[in-house]
Amino acid sequence: MENSHAANSAAEPGTDIDQLAHEMTAQFRQVLSTKRMNELASQASRSRSSSPALGGPAPAFATTPYSPAPEGVSPPSYSSLRNIPLVPEAPRDARSIQFRSMLHALSNTPMQWENPGLLDEALRTVPLDRIYNEAEEESQIFQAEAASLGQGKLPRWGYQDCVIRALMRWFKHGFFHWVNNPPCSQCTSPTIAVGMAPPEPDERARGATQVELYQCSHCRGLERFPRYSDAFVLLQTRRGRVGEWVTCFSMLCRAVGSRVRWVWNAEDFLWTEVYSDHRKRWIHVDVCEEKWDKPLLYAEGWQKKQSYIIAFSADGATDVTRRYVRDAMKHGLPRTRAPEAVLLFIMNEIRTLRRANMTKQEKFRLEGEDKREDKELRGFIIQNIVSGVTKISTEALANGWTPGTRMDPDAQKAAEGRTNSSEQVLSREGGRSSPSQHNPDQDRR
Ligand SMILES: [Zn+2]
Repeated sequence: MENSHAANSAAEPGTDIDQLAHEMTAQFRQVLSTKRMNELASQASRSRSSSPALGGPAPAFATTPYSPAPEGVSPPSYSSLRNIPLVPEAPRDARSIQFRSMLHALSNTPMQWENPGLLDEALRTVPLDRIYNEAEEESQIFQAEAASLGQGKLPRWGYQDCVIRALMRWFKHGFFHWVNNPPCSQCTSPTIAVGMAPPEPDERARGATQVELYQCSHCRGLERFPRYSDAFVLLQTRRGRVGEWVTCFSMLCRAVGSRVRWVWNAEDFLWTEVYSDHRKRWIHVDVCEEKWDKPLLYAEGWQKKQSYIIAFSADGATDVTRRYVRDAMKHGLPRTRAPEAVLLFIMNEIRTLRRANMTKQEKFRLEGEDKREDKELRGFIIQNIVSGVTKISTEALANGWTPGTRMDPDAQKAAEGRTNSSEQVLSREGGRSSPSQHNPDQDRR
C-alpha cells in the first residue's frame, strides 16, 4: 500500500523515495514537536500569535496553499433573528449547579492532550509517511477538481483537512478495534456479559474507573474489559467503543497539528470537530462512522433526537447544538438541565478559564472566531426556516395558488446555498464510505 503511494509521488527518478519519505517524516516530526513545545511551554503567557493550532504542516509538505474561506459560507444574517437578547445568568438552582459541575468536568478532557511529550510519543504510533502520501494525493485531486471548474474556484478541502481524512481512514481500518463483547483471550470464543467489577490496581493506575466482566461461552474463563478514558493508554489498548475511539482519535488529530474539539452530546454520543483553516470553520468528524463534515448524520440520518451538544477544546466550550439539530421541532429534545441564560453563562465561564493566560491578541482573535461561528450556527436555523417556507410555497403552487410576490432574494440564496452544500456532501461520499461497524442504535459508549 505504501509502495503505491510512494510510486505515485515519485517526481524525480533516481531518488530513493523511501529514504526521502523517512527523512521528511523525521523532519516533520521535529517541526511538529518544536512547534508544540514552543506553544505549550509558553502556555503561561499563551503567546500563540496568529496561528494557534500548530497551524499546518511544515511548508515543505504543504503543497496546497491555504485559501481564504469561499464566498457565501455564511448565510445572510437576518436582523429579526440576530441578537436575540440573552443575558448570561449564574446558576442558582441545584439542577443548574449540577449541570455546571458536569460541564466543567467534561471540559477537562481535551486539556489532557495538551502535553507535548505525550503527543510526540503518540505520533510515533502513526504511520506518518503513509498518512501524508494519502493526504497529498487526495489534496491534488481536490485541486485538480477545482481547476477543472474554472478560475478562482477553491479546492473543496485543503491539505491539512486531507491529513485528518487520511488519519481517520487509517485509524478506523488499520489501528483501532471496535469491541462489543471482547473475545476470550484464552480460546478466542465469544463471551457473555456477566456484570461489572472494581478495577485492579494496575487498571486503576491507568485510569480505569470501571471494568466490564465477560465469561467465555466455551472455556468459562473470565475476561475483563477495563474502560479507559486516557487517550495515551488507549494508544496501547487500541480497542473500545465510541468513548475510546473518539478520545484516542481526537488526541491524534491534535498530535498531527490540528485544532480539535471533543464533542459531547447529552444523549451519550461523542464525536470530534477539527478546525479547517482552509474553510475557516469547524468540521464534524465521526471516526467510528468514518464520516467527515456530515453534521446531519444523527438528526436526519438516524432520526436521533438530541438536546445538548457541547464542543470542548483547549480554547473553551461552545454550544454547537444548532450545527447538528437544524429543526428543533423535529429532532430536538427539551433542554431542561438549565435555563438557556445559565448555559450561556457556563460556556462563557469555561472560555474565560481556558483563555485566562492568553495574550490580548489571541483572545481577540478567538472572539472573532466565536462570532463567526455564532453567525454560522444562526444561519443554519434561518436556512431551515427558509427551506420550510419554500416547501410550503411549493405545496401551495401544486394546489393551484400563485404567489403574488417573489421570495426575498437573500432568503432564496440561503435556501439555494443549503441545497448545494447538501448535494455536495452527498456526492462527495462516493465510494469511500464503508458499512458501519456497528448499529447506531446500540449503546455507542
Ligand atoms: Zn475461552
